[in-house]
Amino acid sequence: MFVIRNIGVLCTLEPSGSDLLGRMEHAALVAADDLVTWLGPEKDLPAIPPGTPQVDARGGAVLPGLVEAHTHLVFAGNRVKDYARRSRGATYAEIAAEGGGIVTTVRATRTATEAELVDLALPRLHTLLHHGVTTCEVKSGYGLTLADELKILRAVRVLGAMQSVELVPTFLGAHTVPPEFLENPDRYIDVVCGEMLPQVEEGKLAKFADVFVEKGAFTPAQARRVAEAARRHGLGIKLHVDQLSSGGGAELAAELGAASADHLDHASAAGIDALKKSGTVAVLLPTAQVFLGHRETAPGRALLDAGVPVAVSTDFNPGSSPCSHLPLAGTLAV
Ligand SMILES: [Zn+2]
Repeated sequence: MFVIRNIGVLCTLEPSGSDLLGRMEHAALVAADDLVTWLGPEKDLPAIPPGTPQVDARGGAVLPGLVEAHTHLVFAGNRVKDYARRSRGATYAEIAAEGGGIVTTVRATRTATEAELVDLALPRLHTLLHHGVTTCEVKSGYGLTLADELKILRAVRVLGAMQSVELVPTFLGAHTVPPEFLENPDRYIDVVCGEMLPQVEEGKLAKFADVFVEKGAFTPAQARRVAEAARRHGLGIKLHVDQLSSGGGAELAAELGAASADHLDHASAAGIDALKKSGTVAVLLPTAQVFLGHRETAPGRALLDAGVPVAVSTDFNPGSSPCSHLPLAGTLAV
C-alpha cells in the first residue's frame, strides 16, 4: 500500500462534461496490490495505517502512466549516413536499395552481445520513463537469424527485470528480408515460421509476432503465413502496414484478427471500415512520417470518426524515427 498526497491536479481520465481528463484539484490517492483503492480531495483522505509509504507530489499533476505501443528499442549502431542521404533528397526505399536502411542496423546488432544490447537500450528506457511511459512494447527484428533474434528478445527480458517500465516483447523476425535470402524471400519465411517461432514460444520470449508488409519487405501472402504460424505458437498479431504505399494492409490486419495495425499512412476507406469491424487498434506513428519527410499523414480523424480505437506511438528506432518522446508524438498526432 502507498499514498500520494499533495496532488495539485489529479487526472482520473473519467470525462465529466467538457473536462475530458476528469481533473480533480488538491487531491490524494491510495493504492494497494496494483490497484487504486481510493482517490478524492485530500481533506477527505481516510485514516491510513501508520508506516504506510507516502509520496509528496508537491502540488504537481498525477495521471496514469503512458503506454508506448510500438518501439524498436533494442539495437546497436546508428544510421547517421541514412540521415545525410535523406537530407539530400533520397527516399527511404532508395536508401534501402543502396544497402542502407534496416540492414545497416542488422549488421551492427548482429555483432553486439546480449549484454551490450542491454547496456545500449537501458538509457533509452530511462528516457521513455522520464517522458511518462510505464508500459512499453519492444520489437526484435534487427537480428534476422535465429540466434540473433533470440538474443534481442532475451535482452528485452533482462531489461524488463532491471528497471520499472513494464515491457511487452514482440517477435519481428519478418522485419526485412536479410541479405542472405534476397534471392529467395519465401525461404526466409520458412525459417521464421519453422525455426524461429517454435524457439520464441519455447522460451516464452514474446507476446506478439509482427510483419513489415510493404514493397521491398514482405507481401500479404508472406504475412499470412507468419500470422498463421504465430497463432499456432500462441502469439497475438501486429502488423506494419500501409506505411509507404497503399497495399490493402489495413484490410489484411483486419482479416488476420491483428491486435494492431501500425502506421496506416496510406490506409484506404475500405481498410478503415475493416478495422472497425475487426476491433483492431490503429497505431499511428507521426514522428516517423515527419522524420521521413512524407507528406501523406495517417487518416487519424477518419479512423476516430469510424469508431476505430486509435493509439499514438513513437515508433522509436534508429532509422525512421529516432524519437523516444511520446508526448511529442501525441502533439504531432493532434
Ligand atoms: Zn516499426
